[in-house]
Amino acid sequence: MNKFSFASPAVAGEAIEIVASEPGSMYVAGGTNLLDLWKYNITQPDLLVDINKLDNHHAIERLPDGGLRLGALATNAATAYHPMIEERYPLLSKTILAGASPQIRNMATNGGNLLQRTRCYYFYDVNTPCNKREPGTGCSAIGGYNRIMGILGTSDDCIATFPSDMCVALAALDARVNVSGPKGERTIPFADFHRLPGDHPEIDNDLRKGELITSIDLPPDNLTTHNSYLKIRDRNSYAFALVSVATAFELENGTIKDIRIALGGVAHKPWRVPEAEAALIGRQPDDESFALAAEIILRGAKPYTFNSFKIELAKRAIIRNGRMALNPSSQLPGARPSA
Ligand SMILES: Cc1cc2nc3c(=O)[nH]c(=O)nc-3n(C[C@H](O)[C@H](O)[C@H](O)COP(=O)(O)OP(=O)(O)OC[C@H]3O[C@@H](n4cnc5c(N)ncnc54)[C@H](O)[C@@H]3O)c2cc1C
Ligand code: SF4
Repeated sequence: MNKFSFASPAVAGEAIEIVASEPGSMYVAGGTNLLDLWKYNITQPDLLVDINKLDNHHAIERLPDGGLRLGALATNAATAYHPMIEERYPLLSKTILAGASPQIRNMATNGGNLLQRTRCYYFYDVNTPCNKREPGTGCSAIGGYNRIMGILGTSDDCIATFPSDMCVALAALDARVNVSGPKGERTIPFADFHRLPGDHPEIDNDLRKGELITSIDLPPDNLTTHNSYLKIRDRNSYAFALVSVATAFELENGTIKDIRIALGGVAHKPWRVPEAEAALIGRQPDDESFALAAEIILRGAKPYTFNSFKIELAKRAIIRNGRMALNPSSQLPGARPSA
């Protein structure tokens, strides 16, 4: 490990000033991703700025418009089990609890969750070329073992996926990310926060040097009755998604009034296709409707040598999760989704 300095300011402005002005500096929150990347020699900060002592960024509180504000430093566990989240945003609670382990969720923060890096094997292996880790060196995954990689929005430079579960719900819920930086404060719609790899896969998101995520806002909505998160992975706990689906909808007179479908494990960012959601408005919440959405969402999917199975898996997961959202009792452990 490289030699490094450490700072632990109590004021956000001070933390921002340090990270904006010191080239080798980085924020650390729960440390559950940063410390791994450091141990694998993927990142070597010269100056670590611990943000855990900052005031005002730990709370979960109501917004005047009826929505909720999640502090960036609230832990994933505190967020998932918060009574207002469980009652009003159960989809968010379900996605967080589908990720990592209780110990990690106790440390991991909401801001850090948005900024976790890909789990591509080659990204973690510093002896192999990787454009995300070292721009211009090539992508080992494209011609390599690419079973866990993306099928949507990939580029000739990178086919990695973004691994967060929580962010799949935040995408579905139209969250907004509040950031504070050297040039002031701004709010980024969730759909614009994470990037596709394009020809700059080293850039994961829209944050600029020194910007600090201060909170995440959830708009008020009516998606609490019918929602479900289906995470398909190689083992039932402590594993990242091969494909995941967050579905939430509101019914009126038995037909769909509003619906959100977001996918994880398939792209460099949570994947939503507004056209697929629009196509379901006014339709019955049945297999035929969810199959229609699945066809639209997977249109243009591009398989690689070892991951073509993800296309069919994603389509079936969208249909199955639609049924599970319609019939929440089918989500109980051991219960079968209704036929
Ligand atoms: C074994 C293991 C299994 C896991 N399984 C899953 C899983 O199944 N699903 C899932 O979704 N996640 C999983 N995770 C990832 C975990 O959720 C993330 O590591 C965690 O959310 C990161 O939060 P953190 O606070 O620890 O971030 P840190 O590690 O402290 O920071 C991560 C990055 O964010 C930056 N940062 C942190 N906070 C801020 C802020 N407020 N503003 C600006 N920059 C900031 C840091 O500089 C760093 O670059 C797993 C992690 C581990 C170790
Ligand atoms: S897919 Fe992306 S992260 Fe993985 S090796 Fe290729 S460039 Fe690196």
